[in-house]
Amino acid sequence: MNKFDPASKVQNLLQFGEFGDVNPSITDSATYTFMQGKTMSDTFKGETEGCFLYSRHWNPSNKYLSDAMAAMEGTEAGWVTASGMSAITNALMHCLNAGDHVISSMTTYGGTFAFLSNWMKKYNVEVTFVNITNLESVRKAMRPNTKVIYTETVTNPLLQVSDIPELSKIAKSGGARLIVDNTFTPMIVSPARLGADVVVYSMTKFVNGKNDCVAGAICGSNDFIASLIDVNTGTSMLLGPVLDPMRSSSILKNLHTLHIRMQQHGRNAMYLAERFKEIGLKFNYPGMKEHPGHELLKSMMNDGYGFGGMIAIDLGTAERANRVMEIMEQKGVGYLAVSLGYFKTLFSNSGKSTSSEIPEDIQQEMGMSEGLIRFSVGLDNDIERSFRLIAETLEEVGG
Ligand code: PLP
Repeated sequence: MNKFDPASKVQNLLQFGEFGDVNPSITDSATYTFMQGKTMSDTFKGETEGCFLYSRHWNPSNKYLSDAMAAMEGTEAGWVTASGMSAITNALMHCLNAGDHVISSMTTYGGTFAFLSNWMKKYNVEVTFVNITNLESVRKAMRPNTKVIYTETVTNPLLQVSDIPELSKIAKSGGARLIVDNTFTPMIVSPARLGADVVVYSMTKFVNGKNDCVAGAICGSNDFIASLIDVNTGTSMLLGPVLDPMRSSSILKNLHTLHIRMQQHGRNAMYLAERFKEIGLKFNYPGMKEHPGHELLKSMMNDGYGFGGMIAIDLGTAERANRVMEIMEQKGVGYLAVSLGYFKTLFSNSGKSTSSEIPEDIQQEMGMSEGLIRFSVGLDNDIERSFRLIAETLEEVGG
């Protein structure tokens, strides 16, 4: 068992403000003063510890949150961004040059898929999409110019489990980096400790958990983060997807309860999965022993955070999925909405929403049914009631 404890790593960080305020003061400044010109020029070169230059580069609020994210991941450093997509695109672009090659899991968040398959073409970066659970196909896809293997720990929306230690070995043997999106499994899995070089997050989801903002994070080595924000060549410094310090401050406060939320999301999802099995529903949940990635996930998990809050159920057709979601919303099971990691259960038909960027033939190839509903199970205090309402809905709609 993996004994890393991300919640304690976050809790044990001593972070307090200039007046002893338990929540560090929010930096409401775009720029910072210096008493000496030399200190300013040293800071420009990244040589002055504890000095801040300009908020697009660093600001104290973003530094607190970045340090907390790095502590959670067990990485040397972190950098927070204005969205999950900016974390993903910046991390990828920083590792790639024109003419390079990327291997990516075919099942990834639709925005990431679109970025890799449509946008990267502009820079002559070739992408091979593979079934990430088939390590042989990953090995075969490696080329001399492969610079990145990209995957999600538990993929969106099919909930396949990536073998991070093995993918890391494949990447290392070919001189490539492994970038892992851990949005679905914060605290549950710590990809950097399993060999990932860079870990990216949409903090919009579980990490913040309040659905009040969009944000992202990149975690990695000191060298990687420093080069990402280098004033001359750093992708994030130059593209500038800086997170607003007000938001950093509120996300940091929400991060302090993430472990408790993950445990409750996981307990509720497990309860629903067990009931879904009893009623013979077709579904995917990596917490169930029938799931093909169950043992692998167990071998990578940190103790005590559960198997996550995401379940995918297959209702066959988009019409049936829509009907079921509409009735579930009317009955109060949750909201028909994209996104995840909220206190309310959220559900959406992936093929027609968050994965609609993926062409239909590829959706079929990856095994994504048009009737797939992605459930982000909420923090329901009465999950038995929620199940009863779901079961009633399914009966009403019929098979
Ligand atoms: N990664 C995953 C797994 C996601 O589900 C999403 C959004 O749904 C993103 C990244 C993109 O994050 P954001 O919407 O914060 O840009």
